[in-house]
Amino acid sequence: MVRLAWSELRVGVLGLGRSGRAAARLLRRAGASVYASDAADSGELRSAARELRSEGVNVDLGRHDRSALADCDLLVASPGIPPTAEVFGWPEVKSLRVISELELAFAFLAAPIIAVTGTNGKTTTTAWIGEVLRRGGVRVGVGGNIGRALSELAADREAGYEWVVAEVSSFQLAQIERFNPAIGVLLNLCPDHLDRYEDVNLYYADKARLFANASPESRWVLNGEDLEVRRMAEGRLGRATCFWVATPPTGDEDAAFLARGRILVARMEGREIELLARDELKLLGTHNVANALAAALVALYVRVPLEAIREGLREFEPLPHRLQPVAEYGGVLWINDSKATNVASTRVALQAMDRPVVLLLGGRPKGQSFAGLTGDLTGRVKAVVAYGEAGEQIEEELGKRVRVVRVEGSLEDVVDCAARLTEPGDAVLLAPACASFDMFHDYEERGSVFTRLVSEAAA
Ligand code: ADP
Repeated sequence: MVRLAWSELRVGVLGLGRSGRAAARLLRRAGASVYASDAADSGELRSAARELRSEGVNVDLGRHDRSALADCDLLVASPGIPPTAEVFGWPEVKSLRVISELELAFAFLAAPIIAVTGTNGKTTTTAWIGEVLRRGGVRVGVGGNIGRALSELAADREAGYEWVVAEVSSFQLAQIERFNPAIGVLLNLCPDHLDRYEDVNLYYADKARLFANASPESRWVLNGEDLEVRRMAEGRLGRATCFWVATPPTGDEDAAFLARGRILVARMEGREIELLARDELKLLGTHNVANALAAALVALYVRVPLEAIREGLREFEPLPHRLQPVAEYGGVLWINDSKATNVASTRVALQAMDRPVVLLLGGRPKGQSFAGLTGDLTGRVKAVVAYGEAGEQIEEELGKRVRVVRVEGSLEDVVDCAARLTEPGDAVLLAPACASFDMFHDYEERGSVFTRLVSEAAA
């Protein structure tokens, strides 16, 4: 295929979220003529549009212009726009080459990429890898879904990144062509986003595109205990190393694992390296041991000195809205895990609890059943407070196994109800297993409102 220079291309950018804006700007600076549009229109978008127009981007808000799109050679689509959106059905658009912002940024990034994907733990592990590399003196850019958009990192030539760590979602992987990380991390795979994918295999197929351009030089860090991950990675080019938490591997291959349930160990070329004790980690739960082991393996590939790896693993703090202790008062610990937006992440949160729990469950359901929680409720959860659009479904599916209290009001009513159900020594866990959009702008707003309500009550 003949490839034109960017300055000869007319590019459409669909969706003006953080990544869309960064993409439009990157393309303009590369000399492309850029048309950018967003079906929504808000104060925030208007100010973004003003800035982009001042850089020479042609912008539409509240609509996509058919003829402007028909004139484009290429489209960069935001991962937030579902493939079922009307605009993708237009004949003018159907015939266009569409790439994700990830693919665009990859074309411009000079530094090798560490791509982190999986159903749960991407943000945490991406940030954790960044922390460990930074402590090792590596000039590292961290971006994707967290921090800065990848296109923004790609535009920042002065930063002189030696490595870029990218949090990568299935929606971004769906539209790559040449994207090829130097190191790819696949944390775990379980059903999610069934509101957008017709069935789970389509979701997994997008995740599998992580390996689409694998070469013998590729390095993979994989969850050895996740059969779906192992199946997906089987037979791919490159060198893979696995991490193990529940059971250390029996062979003598390179690996990272939890030894005797207590010590994080890496084995490289036959040498066993004790990294640190599990209870030195500041993050709760076995799943975070997995994330730490994945970060350690990446750091070893990058040749970060051992002392820096130990320090980075030890000093890393929980990120907001991810099993984040908010306050303890009256002997009750309140924990914000608003980012637990699917059943799998709520399960790992429950498994990390060492107190009796009142669980706040609800929001907008994503097409999964809550029955998968039952095994983790028994013996741990004294009551579930079910709220939001999913309230009725939760009561139906869990009501026979555990005490379920329905609340039809606001999150404040949910918090009040939870307070009445607790006694000293308990924890209240907001790990809703649902999206937040029925009541909030996003999971961050949900977690912030929860944090404010709890902090006010504590004061
Ligand atoms: P993501 O970016 O993939 O959504 P986050 O790091 O934001 O991941 O965490 C999302 C949710 O998943 C949180 O509730 C967190 O406690 C949980 N989680 C984090 N790491 C893991 C893991 N390795 N396995 C399962 N759940 C995890």
